[in-house]
Formats: sequence, C-alpha cells, structure tokens
Amino acid sequence: MGLSKTIWATPTEYLRNHAPDHPVLFFSPATLQATARRFIAGFPGLVTFAVKSNPDEQVLANLVAAGVSGFDVASPAEMDTIKRIAPHAAMHYNNPVRARSEILHAVELGVKSYSVDSHSELVKLGELVPAEGVEVSVRFKLPVEGAAYNFGAKFGATVEKAVELVTLAAQLGYTTSLTFHPGTQCTDPNAWKTYIQAAAQISREAGVNIARLNVGGGFPAYRLTDVAPDLAAIFALIERETDAAFGDARPALVSEPGRALVAEAYSLATRIKAIRDDEHVFINDGVYGALSELHLIGVIDRVRIYGPGAELRTGETRSRTVFGPTCDSLDKLPSELALPLSMEEDDHMMFYGVGAYSTATATRFNGFGQITFQTVQSHG
Ligand SMILES: *Cc1c(COP(=O)(O)O)cnc(C)c1O
Repeated sequence: MGLSKTIWATPTEYLRNHAPDHPVLFFSPATLQATARRFIAGFPGLVTFAVKSNPDEQVLANLVAAGVSGFDVASPAEMDTIKRIAPHAAMHYNNPVRARSEILHAVELGVKSYSVDSHSELVKLGELVPAEGVEVSVRFKLPVEGAAYNFGAKFGATVEKAVELVTLAAQLGYTTSLTFHPGTQCTDPNAWKTYIQAAAQISREAGVNIARLNVGGGFPAYRLTDVAPDLAAIFALIERETDAAFGDARPALVSEPGRALVAEAYSLATRIKAIRDDEHVFINDGVYGALSELHLIGVIDRVRIYGPGAELRTGETRSRTVFGPTCDSLDKLPSELALPLSMEEDDHMMFYGVGAYSTATATRFNGFGQITFQTVQSHG
C-alpha cells in the first residue's frame, strides 16, 4: 500500500520496456468509462452490468464511476463483491435457479429483483422472499438465430409457461416483469425484435401489465476487423419495437450487457514461442487462458504483431494456424489469422477487445496462464 501504480501510455510502451515472457492483459480505465458512458447515453432505459463477464474489482469501480447503478448478479460471491464496491447499487439476481441458502443470502443483502423460469423456483421464492417492493422477472426463451452462442439451452421458460408464471408472480403480489437473453455477441438486431413481440404477447395473454422488460445482454463487441457492431441501430430497434408491441402498456426497459461494456477495455499481449517449420504459430496463451471463449464463439482477428523494439510488423501477410501453449489439441484458435511474413519468434502478438470472459474464465492448465495485469491510458 502507499505505492503508486505505473500507468503506461499504451501497451507498446510497456512492451518496449519489458518484453514480457508471460501473457499480459492491459486494462484501460478510460476506455472502459467511455464505453460505459456511450452505452448509458444510447440505451433507452436502465443499464445494469452482467458481473460474470468481468468481475475484476477495478472494472466494477470504474463502471460505477461511469454511472452504472445496477448489476446483474448470479451468486452470493458476486453479490458480496457488489455490496462492498457499490453498496447502494441495485442488484438483479438473474440466475433463475438458486439454493434456498443463496436466496436467503440475497434477502439479507436487500436484493429486490429476481428472475425465474420455472414453477418450482417461483414457489421457492414465494416462501422465502416477502413480496413487498420486490420484482420477479419471468425469463422466457424463443428459438432465435443471430447470436454466437445459444443462451436458451439452459434457461428460459417457453412462451406458454411464461404466461402461467407471470400470472402466478402477480398473484403472489410481486411486481411482475419479463426478461430474456437473446444470446451473446448478437450482431443481428432482429433477435431483439422477436423477443419484444413475444413479451407483449405473454403480458396480454396473462392479463398482467408488466412493470419492466429486461432485454438482456447479448450486445455485440468489436471482434472482427470487418464487422463493426452497430449498437445505435440495436438501441433504436429496441425502443421502436417496444413502443409498437406494448402501446400504452409500455414497460420501462432494462438491459444487462456484459461483453459490450467491458470487451474494449482490455488488450492482451502474447509472445510468439515458435513458428514451427515456418508453418504453425505457437503463442504463450490460448483457449485455457485469456482466449478461453474463442473456441465457443469464434476468433478475434483484431491482432497486431510487434517486433523486439515494439515496432509494428507490417507488409504482406499469410494465413496461419495459431496454437496456444498447452499440450491439448483443443488449444488452437478456431480460425486462421492473416499474419505478416516479417513476423519472428519472440515477437509479441497483441489481441484487442478481449475484456469479456477472459480473466473470468482463465485457468492455469498445464502450468501456463500466468497472466499479469498492467494499466494503460489507451490501447494505442
Ligand atoms: C451472461 C449474461 C448476461 C451478459 O451477456 P453478454 O452477452 O455478455 O452481454 C446478461 N444476462 C444474463 C442473465 C446472463 O447470464
């Protein structure tokens, strides 16, 4: 304590001084706050942060500083963290399946919003959570395309069942809302459209005006050089469709982005261990480390190579297979990357936009994954 922390201008300034042999994650608080402020300004409702995408305490503190006042939490540990860092923030306990002990923990911490997707879990809540001032959000699902990863595989009631649950939640005296999660990295705005229309249908069929509609996370981050996400178009569609579907009974809107708030805040420096027989590239981090979700939702191709003095490698490129450091065959990037021919062993390979589901899920498998953190003003 008492030591001030070095803040580098950019990752390249750090690479020039250190040539790190272990993976380094660079965190830019300024980028994080700017991204969060843009999202809050653009989204037509309350913005909460899905803690699981990056539970780092500095991330949470910077989101609070940028104006995030609510958090989507899924476990007692996440709730404890938020209570410590942002004691007055709203917590939405949106993991629809919970042990009784977990529910009691939430009640003790003053949690006022819970999602459910089943009759048995709603009855359980009814026994443990007094209805006064408490919201129950019924989570439903549709068979929708357009996301990189299907969130409906585990959670969500069918439309038919959601009608029953909304009816029962209202009977139990809870403020009744609806929620869905269209899938993560959802680049097609139409995924939200179908869900919003179904929410209005559920509300009509149950004969219950819902207080809030939580349109989930799923907002895309910038992963592929040629596919810049258009959040403004998604926000506009959500607002338009909610008005059209609900008319006078329009609920307040809530979102719970994870990825779209934090992805851009981190970049990752890996080191090129070997270029095997001038063919395959081996780097010192991979799918068991900070790149853990790439084999689930696809490659990040926003990559730059830096030579020994941190000079950018440019010129002609060639598509190459890139492997992580472990001995597991799965430890391979899911698509080839176009990398400069001038690249050499011991160069650094930087990945941009890796702030979501990276630190949260990294492991030390096979003795690799010793990731360190540095703070930067910007990613350069
Ligand atoms: C994971 C999750 C989110 C965040 O999803 P992103 O795709 O990262 O925006 C939001 N809500 C719930 C219920 C989740 O489980």
